[in-house]
Amino acid sequence: MKSPEYSEDCKEIFALISDYLDLELSPDGCAEIEAHIAGCPSCIEFVESLRKTIDLCRLYHPSEVPEPIGQQAREQLLNAYRNAMAARGRPV
Ligand SMILES: [Zn+2]
Repeated sequence: MKSPEYSEDCKEIFALISDYLDLELSPDGCAEIEAHIAGCPSCIEFVESLRKTIDLCRLYHPSEVPEPIGQQAREQLLNAYRNAMAARGRPV
């Protein structure tokens, strides 16, 4: 199976997801992730494994008070992120 190609924009999205895992993602970052994923087939497979990231992003809606994610959810996200990185077999 051919590996999808990731653009520089994609790498920015991966960095934003990493920020999210560090609880440092801004609402603008969430919006950027959602907007990019909507138009980037290459990222869909990766993001599917991080579906909870996108769902949790909605907690950061500017009109709502952000809620901290639970430790278990954070570990699940981190594991999914690491697995996705490892599956690509090359540095981002
Ligand atoms: Zn992408």
